[in-house]
This record gives sequence, structure tokens and C-alpha cells, in this order.
Amino acid sequence: MAYICVAVPVPLRQLFTYTHHCDLAAGVRVRVPFGPRKLVGIVVDEPNKDAPEIENADKLKAIETVLDEAPIIDAVLLKMAQWLWQYYHHAPGEVLHTMLPVLLRKGETAQVLPEERIRLTETGERTSSDELTRAPKQKAFFEALQKSSLSAQQSRKLFGSPAVKSIIDKSLAEVVDVVPEVREQEWLSTISIDEKPIPDTEQSVAIAALNQQHGKFAVSLLEGVTGSGKTEVYLQAIEPLLQAGKQILILVPEIGLTPQTVSRFEKRFSIDVGVLHSQLSDKARLRVWQRAKSGELGIVIGTRSAIFTPLANPGMIIVDEEHDESFKQQDGLRYHARDLAAMRAKQHSIPLLLGSATPALESLNNALGGRYAHLHLTRRAGGAQNTHQHLLDARDQPLHYGISQALLTIMRQHINAGNQVLVFVNRRGYAPALLCHHCGETVTCKRCDRPYTVHKSHNRLQCHHCAGTRAMPRQCEACHSSSLVTAGTGTEQVEDGLASLFPDVKQVRIDSDTVRGKDKLHQTLGAINRQEYQLLVGTQILSKGHHFPHVTLVAVLDCDGALFSADFRAPEKLAQLVTQLAGRAGRASKPGEMWLQTHNPHHPLLQDLVNNGYGHFARHALIERKAAGLPPYISQFVVRCEAADSALAFAFLSGSRNVFAASNNDIEMSGPFPSLIEKRQGRFRFMLICSHNKRAPLHGVLRQSLPFLQALPQATKVRWSVDIDPTDF
Ligand code: ADP
Ligand code: ZN
Ligand code: ZN
Repeated sequence: MAYICVAVPVPLRQLFTYTHHCDLAAGVRVRVPFGPRKLVGIVVDEPNKDAPEIENADKLKAIETVLDEAPIIDAVLLKMAQWLWQYYHHAPGEVLHTMLPVLLRKGETAQVLPEERIRLTETGERTSSDELTRAPKQKAFFEALQKSSLSAQQSRKLFGSPAVKSIIDKSLAEVVDVVPEVREQEWLSTISIDEKPIPDTEQSVAIAALNQQHGKFAVSLLEGVTGSGKTEVYLQAIEPLLQAGKQILILVPEIGLTPQTVSRFEKRFSIDVGVLHSQLSDKARLRVWQRAKSGELGIVIGTRSAIFTPLANPGMIIVDEEHDESFKQQDGLRYHARDLAAMRAKQHSIPLLLGSATPALESLNNALGGRYAHLHLTRRAGGAQNTHQHLLDARDQPLHYGISQALLTIMRQHINAGNQVLVFVNRRGYAPALLCHHCGETVTCKRCDRPYTVHKSHNRLQCHHCAGTRAMPRQCEACHSSSLVTAGTGTEQVEDGLASLFPDVKQVRIDSDTVRGKDKLHQTLGAINRQEYQLLVGTQILSKGHHFPHVTLVAVLDCDGALFSADFRAPEKLAQLVTQLAGRAGRASKPGEMWLQTHNPHHPLLQDLVNNGYGHFARHALIERKAAGLPPYISQFVVRCEAADSALAFAFLSGSRNVFAASNNDIEMSGPFPSLIEKRQGRFRFMLICSHNKRAPLHGVLRQSLPFLQALPQATKVRWSVDIDPTDF
């Protein structure tokens, strides 16, 4: 009889012991009884600290079914899981479930299932492709089949359904259900590089440095202005690794994972790229997971959770736009994919490459401190100039729909020159508030205590914190006056305004109300690059990933709010946003400019950013963080708590504070105080921030204290969580 340690997917920070007639390898899934339920757990080889003494062995339950013949999680990923549950103080079973594709969590087989493939029939074998010269698509498809059978899905994607159907109708090929054979390093049979640009000096230096890192753990920060050719560096740096049969894992922000990004890698190497994003079906996700694990895929590109993709022969991990907030998970297991990438690269002894035009202060600090190699691309590729940035003093200027006359004049000049203008507005909707002109009362969402946003297109009010909506009121609830007016400007209003100010100009609005779903966004972006519009109005979405070669003017309407935020990261986020926006404009033949309209033209942050650029701003911001004793110079965790009864939430955090204080340490605590968004969906939100200049003591205190937090009288009546290295308050 063997005792098996199992991570069971329940929210408990412990492992469980079961019995089985023989020993089981770590990484194998098992179905186990847990109370009245049957759950899919994963065998781990950690000695279980909470295991009952062997005398109690007869109380232990037996494993019901063993689901895998061989481990489905390899040693490196198991080690990562262990690190995750210790570092993030999270339940082991939930950690391992987070790392697996949904179908495997549910206990489905990890074996590759049969799929529809198309192969030549006997007639097909005897036929020459010359007979198909009049139908080029069919001919190309037929010639591909002469080399090997193809998956039905891929055939339709590559050659189009009509061509596929014709070939089958002519009995030249047939559809069969077969289990695809595993072909490790499959890409080596197709890889070829037709054309690539000659790297400039800075790119060559970066590529040469990366070529020295093969087979070793090293982290590099590639700090390169937008359009400086970072992606080109990735392409040339991974080329020798791919040629040597090594796999590359590339993480990108959700919004950056476009068909264009993927096809750039596919086209360069003529290989099939595995893609992982949130809109993939469970089946498709499992298939990519399998092909990565068996070593079939040379390149896997995915968003945050792709960091858990198993790889047979890893060669390098790349995190593109490494500053992007989407790499931090904000609920459940609150991991940071960039940190995990470093941890994983170390385990595999492979290099990690972080790239950004606006590096996170954490990464920059590591690079400046010599822990990361620091690679620079200071010039735009192909001779394009950097966007000129200017501040526009909006004080005392009459504003038309939030836009000053001076800015309107500049916009007109760019439009008349046949170029496109991008107008950034930081809020969607018509206006961020509706207020009473008589008594000043604002119409607020009662569940969040925040003003409703006015949405004219649906003629409704919407709360941007809980998504609750209500009909547009006719009267003030306080004084019954019917003169209700909007305050502030959102994208809808700017769109309306520009339509009347530039009646001759075609415009498009891009925010989460107009581009629901990826396809719509990509269609719109395509139309913009075909110059179907001259005016683009939108939110953050416009700042990310896309390059607009015909945009020569970026107008930023209002970012003053961020200058006075209570969040110490607000300046960093603002600087990244503004710099990324500026990067959308201009190319070799059309230099771009950006105008930032502000009521604080002398603000040091804006001055620094506009005159000296992000790199200078960021280095200065680091000095300020150091002086203020803020991350990355100290470590933090935050305990968050929310409840319908604010006293209860507050009491839980006060209790937590006492627990931490009792553990005899010198961690610094601030709070409990209300979160930046104090109320959401009828629940009051508080937080307690704990800091220390070293990581270890902070984690020690937390480990010691968590059982006591769990035992606090309010613990079961409130929602609470611990966030390690929080990025958002
Ligand atoms: P980034 O990833 O920094 O935004 P890209 O790699 O996308 O930059 O490069 C921007 C543009 O410049 C692309 O069209 C790319 O093909 C081109 N480019 C990059 N490097 C070179 C080079 N060395 N010579 C010519 N064109 C280049
Ligand atoms: Zn009123
Ligand atoms: Zn609300």
C-alpha cells in the first residue's frame, strides 16, 4: 500500500493524502473522493506536512481512478506549481488546475484524439497535378497532398473550402479519421527563410548579445522605441534556436495577439505557429497544449496563461510589451506572467527576453542594476522619425466638445494634407456624469456610490464599475428640477462634436462599445489602414500594438486626472499610455506629432515626458520611488476585503493587522483604508497594505499569519484575498 500526496482543487492551502496499491509518479491525474464529491487531483511528490500519522492510515481514502499512464505535467512545471503556491500563498490544487487546459481539469483524456485528415485516393495517387492547371487553388492543394496528408481544418484555411470540396468531389482525395502522428520538431521539415531585412547597428548588437545566451539562464530587457524593430530582433534572435530544433514561447498582451502578429512569425519561417488566447475553444486549446508538449510546434504565441504551456525542447521565452498590465492576473491566483517567465526560464536554463518601448519600472530597475542585460534600440527602423510631442495649454481656452480651438486648427491642417488624425479620449460613453443644473446633485449608482456614465446611443445611464444600467431620468431625484446637464466629455460626445465640426470628414469611433469582439476590432483597424477614415476617436484600445502608418497627428484630450491619482503607479501608467499613443503616429515619409491638451502645462511629469521621453521620465520616477520607499525598492502585499456591511470588512482587516503585528516583526502596515474604488456592486471595499524592504520576512509573516486570518470571526462572512506584489489598488 502506498501513500500518495494529491493536490485537490479546493480552496484550501494544503495537500491531501490518499492510498493506492502502488506508487504513482508526480504529475499524474487521479480521480479522488473528497467529501461527497469526486474531484480530479494531481499527484505531487512533496512530503505532505499535514499528513496524518500512519496509525490513522485506515481513515485515509483510496484513489478511485488513475487518469494518466504518464505524467501530464513535467518536472519543471511541477516545480513552478510548487513555487506558485508558496509564493502566492494559494491553494495547491487550484494552482495546478489553473495551469491546465480546461478539458484536462475536467478529467478528459490527455491522449491525442483522431482528427479529420485529407489524403489522396488511389485515383489521386495516379493523377498528375498538370491536369489541374486551370484551377490554381486546387492545383496547389493537390500538390500539397502529394507531399503529405493534411488536417481538414488546415486545408480549408490554407486553400479555401471550394478548392478542397472540388478535389474531394473529383475523387482525387478523401476525408479520413486518423490519430495524427506525433512529429517532434515537425517545423524543421518546412522551415525556410526567404527574405529578411539587414539589421541596423543597434539591432545587430542586440541579436549578437542574445546569440551568446543559448542554453543559459539570462534575462535581457530590450528597450526600444515603438517601431524601432523589436519584433525584427525577436525574429532574428530565435532563428538559430529554431534551426537547432528549439521551441520558442512568446507572450503578448491580449490586445496584441492579432492575426498580423502571428502571420509575421509564420511568414518569416514558413512554419505553423501555435496560438493560445482567451477566445479559443477548449478543444483547440488542448490541441495546442498537446502539440507544444510533444515538441511539434516550433513557436507558441499566447496571452498571460500561455506561460503554463508545456514545452519538450524550450529554447527561449519572449515577453513582448512586457509592461502591459494584462500580464498580471487580477483574481483567483494573482500571478504575474513576467515573473513566472523568469522563474521558468531559470528552471529550463534558457534565456528570457523582455521587450518594450515603455518598460515597467520593475524591469528597468533590474536592467539598470545589472541583473538583466540591457539592450537598446533608440531609433525607428527604416528611417522613420520619432513623433514630436507638445503640450497644449487649455487654460482659459473655449472648448468645443472638450477640444480647444488651437487643437481644432492643427487637426484641420493634418486632415487637409490628406493624413489621418487620432483623437484619444480616456472615457467611453457620452459624459462621465449627469448632474442637476439647479441643485448640483449627481445621479449615482447606489451599489457603487459613483456617478453614472451617460450613454446617449442607448439613451441610458451605465455604471462603469458594476455595469448596471438605468433609464435616463427626466428629473433630479433631490429637487425634481428637470434641468439635468452632462459633465465632462466621453468618446461618444467627441464623436458627435467632430461630426458637426468636420462634417466633410469620415470618422470612426473605437472603444469597447463599438468594437465588441476581436473580429470587429481587426476589421475596423484594417479599414483605417486602407484610409477609409480620416478621423479616429477612441480610448486605450487605440494605444496598443497597432501601427497606423497614415496617422500624422495624435491629439490627447484630457489626462489631467491621472496627474493627481492616489495610486503611486498612476504616473508610470500615464507615461506609458502617452508614449504608446505617440508611437502610433508617423512613418518614414510622414513624420508625426502629438499634442497633449492639458490644464497643467507646467506639471513636471508632463514636461519631463514631452521634452525628454519615457526613458528619462522612468529613470527619474525610479529615483522618486526609492526616496519614497516604494516598489520596486520594497516588497508589498495587500489584503483586500469586501462586504455589504462596511463595518464587517473593516473589522476583518483590523483583526488581520493585529495578527500581523503580533507575529513580532518589523513589517510596515498602512490601513485598513477604503480601496480606490470604495464600493462596488453594493459591497464596501477596504485594503491593508503591508511592506518590507526584504521579501523573505514579508512572506514569513504571511505564512505564519494566514491560519489566524482564516480563524478571525469575520473571515467566513466577508470576501477576502491576499495579493502579492499588487499592481492595482
Ligand atoms: P517594433 O516591434 O519595435 O514596433 P518592428 O519590428 O515591427 O518594430 O519594425 C517596425 C517596421 O520596421 C516593420 O515594418 C519592420 O519590418 C521594419 N524594420 C524593422 N527592422 C528593419 C530593418 N533593419 N530594416 C528595414 N526595416 C526594418
Ligand atoms: Zn436637483
Ligand atoms: Zn455600479
